[in-house]
Amino acid sequence: MIDTHCHVQFNTYKDDAEIVMKKCQDAGMILNIVGSQQTTSARAVEYAQKYDFAFATIGIHPVHLFPTFVDEAESGFQSRQETFDYEYYKKLAQNKKVVAIGECGLEFFHLPEGFTKEEVLAKQTETFLLQHKLATEMNLPLVIHVRDAHQEMIDLLKTLPAPIKGVIHCYTGDWTYGQQYLALGLNLGFTGVVTFAPKKTNPQPQLDLLEVVKNVPLDRMVIETDSPYLAPQAYRGQRCEPWMVVEVAKKIAEIKNLGLEEVDKLTTENATRLFGFNR
Ligand SMILES: [Zn+2]
Repeated sequence: MIDTHCHVQFNTYKDDAEIVMKKCQDAGMILNIVGSQQTTSARAVEYAQKYDFAFATIGIHPVHLFPTFVDEAESGFQSRQETFDYEYYKKLAQNKKVVAIGECGLEFFHLPEGFTKEEVLAKQTETFLLQHKLATEMNLPLVIHVRDAHQEMIDLLKTLPAPIKGVIHCYTGDWTYGQQYLALGLNLGFTGVVTFAPKKTNPQPQLDLLEVVKNVPLDRMVIETDSPYLAPQAYRGQRCEPWMVVEVAKKIAEIKNLGLEEVDKLTTENATRLFGFNR
């Protein structure tokens, strides 16, 4: 099974990363380890060099463009303010095990204090376009992060030459937006969020997401954990690890009325076509 998006190089694994990696290796997995700024991108490449079943994605996450306190469950952190250093990332991208650029995108959920939404959008857009430029230059796909900004992202993507090679990672939007991303050439990545029960107070977003899983073409979906975040329902509350991606595959199998092995085969083919895990 392939976890197309994990962060096993993050600090939360600093004491047992080797154990986690061994567990993934024993399970016969392939991992795409995704950077969020310079240090975690460089570390993703180090892991990819150390483990033959690991590959790296390098880039800057929109939350790292401003000083923002990000309070994700169990791992609150102060984001570092960085600008996208094109030459730094271009040099890293020469490594044969770098398979994509990202995660890059638009993020309006964690808004920095003291900036208007327009200022944030302008900075995130400029940085996204630089990463798109690098991806084009290196002939690599994009790993795209979108939170509370689907319309803005679709507007932005429509200014670029189509088709766009990449994935909307951790897709949690509805089918209307989902179809627009697919029409632009992108794939949709699903995490453990698909295994969550609809919220009693507000069930619609989860029902919308399950509709997307039901409708997404079999050749345009990939699976991921986004670990250490978003542990699937069976492990909820725990630190997420890449081998838990099987729970995502199980849920997709249930919704699409397929066997687990079939979902494994399809998502592996799709991820391999997108990232070319054999460089
Ligand atoms: Zn991520």
